[in-house]
Amino acid sequence: MPTGYAIGMVLPEEMNMTLKFDTLGLIKPILEAITLSGYTSPTAVQAQAVPEALAGRDLLVSSQTGSGKTAAFMLPALQALSEPAKVAGRGVRVLVLTPTRELAMQVTKAAETYGRNLKRIKTVSIVGGMPYPVQNRLLKAGADILVATPGRLLDQMQSGRVDLSRLEILVLDEADRMLDMGFKDDLEAIVAQTPAERQTLLFSATIDNNIARLATGMLKDPVRIDVSGQQAKHENIEQRLHFADDMAHKNRLLDHLLRDADMLQAIVFTSTKRAADDLASDLHAQGFAAGALHGDMKQSARTRTLQALRKGGIRVLVATDVAARGIDVQGISHVINYDLPRQAEDYVHRIGRTGRAGKNGIAISFANVREQFTVRSIERFTSQAIPVSVIPGLEPKQRIFDKKPGTAMKKFGAKRPHSSGSGSGSSFGGGARTPASAPGGTGNKGSEGAANWSKPAGAFAGKFAGKREGAQDRGWGDKKPSTPRTTQRRTVA
Ligand code: AMP
Repeated sequence: MPTGYAIGMVLPEEMNMTLKFDTLGLIKPILEAITLSGYTSPTAVQAQAVPEALAGRDLLVSSQTGSGKTAAFMLPALQALSEPAKVAGRGVRVLVLTPTRELAMQVTKAAETYGRNLKRIKTVSIVGGMPYPVQNRLLKAGADILVATPGRLLDQMQSGRVDLSRLEILVLDEADRMLDMGFKDDLEAIVAQTPAERQTLLFSATIDNNIARLATGMLKDPVRIDVSGQQAKHENIEQRLHFADDMAHKNRLLDHLLRDADMLQAIVFTSTKRAADDLASDLHAQGFAAGALHGDMKQSARTRTLQALRKGGIRVLVATDVAARGIDVQGISHVINYDLPRQAEDYVHRIGRTGRAGKNGIAISFANVREQFTVRSIERFTSQAIPVSVIPGLEPKQRIFDKKPGTAMKKFGAKRPHSSGSGSGSSFGGGARTPASAPGGTGNKGSEGAANWSKPAGAFAGKFAGKREGAQDRGWGDKKPSTPRTTQRRTVA
């Protein structure tokens, strides 16, 4: 295993630029494909996972999307496929299980990209929402690598269309999310039909007790790799908090931010599918190249939307949590939490949509005074303060008791607020003042504005009621969860 490598994320300054891919034990065709992808140095998770996986070890890895984890399992898997199969026949040799269709598609693309110089490696993706006849044809034609969401794979296995008897490598990607989505029983049923001598690589954003239990049943003497620490901090992402008095104020803030010249592409998060649709169409009506992405949309519409996002046809994607998970589009300069996530963990996933592959990103959250508790719980979860920002002319009128522009929550007061970026509070000369008394403020103090919060006003008024996105989404239309692990995480309002 390489030594002296600073554990980190895909940040150029955090990567050990002297470490090269050719020290990891990869074969030439794969190294050439990596070069074609433009990667110069392995990320921390790649540097640690690839040599161990090539040595045949089971892995238990905590790392998040954006860390380069896909290549960390796909490169060794492809190398294994460059060798003759251990068992004769036509069955799948590598199986990657992912929680969502979107992630499955990204993994499939990664297999094709990194495997472009390897002959006769066929990757097939089996996900919920795809027509069965198409899937049946694909499965009949045979695959070396199968990338699948658990629900649909199990259906296909039960119909006798998938043979896992000669499986060599099993990858569980974003295992924590698969448990969250209620796939535990499906996972166990799938794994029970794979050979005991398989190699298993488990990747998860966090390793909690549930993951540890799952790992105990599936992994043999795994090498434990942890690159989640720095990654979770998202140090390349500048975080800001804007207090908004009411919906109309939120919409004015959003409009201002979206017109910022530095805003290349943004993902705006809402808490309900309906709000995502409504906000996207209102933004569209105002001339923004906006689109919605949520779990009620047909797969073909989601694919089209994501393609448009990738190609730049969509500049503002309004999305819900489950639908946006795993989106890897390097042009996303801003993530805007139009609605705060209910769970701090979702905040981390949301902001991780920007600052991809070594770039910097900006994550902006809107909150009202009553949501200070939610903000605090996010700050506790990430151990990072979110500095308050105020845009001149768009100051909140309500008094904020705990947070002042340009400062962090008191608890985290030791940390300096961000000073870069046009919107940071410190640039407005009001660092020590409350928003109500900040320059341009109306002096409208007290809580009178708070009463307006529940009454949407302004251009987008009256539209933002709706079902909160939940497990029903199944992120991508997979089958209904059998035993939701954290029901409270995914409740429907
Ligand atoms: P992942 O964590 O697998 O979703 O990867 C996040 C992003 O990092 C993807 O856009 C990859 O193409 C990119 N990436 C993966 N490995 C590297 C690397 N060694 N250097 C630069 N970018 C990378």
